[in-house]
Amino acid sequence: MRSGICQRLLSLCLAVGVMCSCPMSVAGIEENEAIVYQRKNDRLDIALTFDDGPHERYTEEILDILAEYGVRATFFVIGENADRYPALLERQLSEGHEIGNHTQTHPLRNLTREQMEQEITACETTIGEWVDKRPLLFRPPGGIISQTVMALAEDHRYRVILWSIDTRDWAHPPVAQITKTVLDQVSAGDIILMHDGIKTDSPTPDALRILIPALLARGYHFVTVSELLAEEG
Ligand SMILES: [Zn+2]
Repeated sequence: MRSGICQRLLSLCLAVGVMCSCPMSVAGIEENEAIVYQRKNDRLDIALTFDDGPHERYTEEILDILAEYGVRATFFVIGENADRYPALLERQLSEGHEIGNHTQTHPLRNLTREQMEQEITACETTIGEWVDKRPLLFRPPGGIISQTVMALAEDHRYRVILWSIDTRDWAHPPVAQITKTVLDQVSAGDIILMHDGIKTDSPTPDALRILIPALLARGYHFVTVSELLAEEG
């Protein structure tokens, strides 16, 4: 299973050049259980995750769709976007969604340990203005895993969350391609990667309007990532 996930991550890397690296390729952390891709269960629970928001248009649209179906999700927010649109962060929280740390500015270049630590803590401070509890989940920008990221996550008591299904919505594929990707691959325990922070022409809301009822019809339940991880089995 992991090699399949790895191959999908590698294809993402190839598609975007140096945007991300496969976690399995990083020396020393190949078998690190601290990286979560999915959590198998027998209750048909799955987790939708949305990265890079809040976005003034798409986050709102996605929240409306989630509310229509009574579905909760996990948003990995960029701190500077949360600073810009605090009302959207408040709405996410008030409607029961989970907020994760996706750094303050979403750097995709190599950072020193100090720079990355600052990115993590700045985002945490931003989120902390709105939530009672500090975020527990961290998703590195681009899914880039390094020993520095893992060490900082441990120091700051974060779970590192990647994904088992990549919709590649950020690349603006046709909506039908996104829905096929998910519906062909999905199984209980999957963590599905989508984005609410796509700058323009996002296919994500239209894909969700098809995916959510289709997945509900197959018996899946949508939970937050922390709920998925808290479950047994
Ligand atoms: Zn991102």
